[in-house]
Amino acid sequence: MTSVVMEEIPDRVTIAVEISNCRGDCPGCHSPFLREDVGERLTPQIISELVKDNFGADCFLFLGEGRDPEDLLSLAEYAKSLGINVALYSGRSDVEAEYWETFDYIKLGPYIEELGPLNSRTTNQRLYRALSDNEDIPCFTRAGRRFEDITERFWHRGLDNSAQ
Ligand code: SF4
Repeated sequence: MTSVVMEEIPDRVTIAVEISNCRGDCPGCHSPFLREDVGERLTPQIISELVKDNFGADCFLFLGEGRDPEDLLSLAEYAKSLGINVALYSGRSDVEAEYWETFDYIKLGPYIEELGPLNSRTTNQRLYRALSDNEDIPCFTRAGRRFEDITERFWHRGLDNSAQ
């Protein structure tokens, strides 16, 4: 499923695409259908059309990462080449260096029902944003890039968004 969303990535108008074949096993999974091999295969052409059809969108979000890292990274690089940010909602606790090198936003952490999604103050999940070169704020470094934890941005909204 594809949608244009404002909530999932702060300060971005985001094209969000659900990616099936989830390799997670979160207890209380909110989207069990995403663990199946369902839907249409995402291609560079589809990404290009989505970006063209959603003028003003400045971020492409992969809601899930599937089971083919090379394909995912290649699609993310393609989306980046169109001049927009790329974001990943992963259900894993960490991702490989290539992901930190590629994505501008990365959400980590399995979905744990009793802790809630990103907009819950008790959430175990975290959303990280890559800093640009001229930003001088507290951060950590992964794969040669600097990131900040922007999870708290969700706690002032009172939204009821779901999480991957
Ligand atoms: S990452 Fe999302 S879709 Fe995958 S098992 Fe966890 S809650 Fe379900």
